[in-house]
Amino acid sequence: MANQRSNDMSLASLSSELNYIHARVIVQSAQLINSDATAACAWEGCGEEIDIRAPEIERHLHTAHGVGKYSPAICRWGNCDFMGFVRGRNMGHDGMSILRRHIAQEHLKRGLVICPTCGDEIPANSLTGHIKREHLDRRP
Ligand SMILES: [Zn+2]
Ligand SMILES: [Zn+2]
Ligand SMILES: [Zn+2]
Repeated sequence: MANQRSNDMSLASLSSELNYIHARVIVQSAQLINSDATAACAWEGCGEEIDIRAPEIERHLHTAHGVGKYSPAICRWGNCDFMGFVRGRNMGHDGMSILRRHIAQEHLKRGLVICPTCGDEIPANSLTGHIKREHLDRRP
């Protein structure tokens, strides 16, 4: 997470333009970690090939593994030990949605890219912001 700061303020405007171009080049060079449409479910060793779109993950968790909307957010994927914090019914968070998102991101890497600069896994639609925040010069 190197923040490089330029001390040369006379080049500030040019530098800002270059940063913008630089960010675009970095973003374009990033590749999706997983561009497959399906993946093998590893919930309790399941092995079934599932569609990795969110509604399909949810449907599979529900029909094959009995996970319900208010089930505890305890992941049984492989030897994962993730336990999500479930807030009350009226708070808009439930076990299913936490697990669905957790599995999509952590286990299926859906929509994630590797940041070409630092190697972190970042949602593709946040990469531009990440690069601007973490890797480009910022001026006051
Ligand atoms: Zn399964
Ligand atoms: Zn997990
Ligand atoms: Zn990065």
